[in-house]
Amino acid sequence: MTPEQSHVADLIRTAFTGVPRPPAGNIAPHACKDCAALSAVLAPYTVEALPDAVIEAEINALCHLSPEAFAYYLPAYLLYGLRHFIYHHLPTEMALYTLLPRAEDEANEEVADRMRSRLRGFTAGQIQAVDAYLRLAEADPAFRRYYGTQLTDGRPRLLRFWEERWSA
Ligand SMILES: [Zn+2]
Repeated sequence: MTPEQSHVADLIRTAFTGVPRPPAGNIAPHACKDCAALSAVLAPYTVEALPDAVIEAEINALCHLSPEAFAYYLPAYLLYGLRHFIYHHLPTEMALYTLLPRAEDEANEEVADRMRSRLRGFTAGQIQAVDAYLRLAEADPAFRRYYGTQLTDGRPRLLRFWEERWSA
């Protein structure tokens, strides 16, 4: 890790310390086979102990999590992303896509409200730590080229969604 990456890792660890662990029934609460399977995979692990192998096998996990589980497990995916800070590394990439709302997400009330409500558990310090992670990606020319406006417009859009999280 570069010194900048270690700094953001510290911000993330500090900001997300003490987020309550969701009960197994509130990890991926959607009533389908895939979400039940995902809940069963994540439930045995605290966020600190979530193995890289699980993150690599469950690259789409974040978008299926309850707001409580999203706030709980996100730091594991971000810290993993800092250890694998490569724009096309799949778990890193999918976590970024889950975080960054697109213009069409904002235009779709239902999608936008789902993304807003997912941010309800986040404190100001936590959203700032996420923002610091996204700024690190934005500062990297390879990330900027690959993600384009989804990154450069998505980051301020995410902050806006966080401010609007209770209006969803
Ligand atoms: Zn489902």
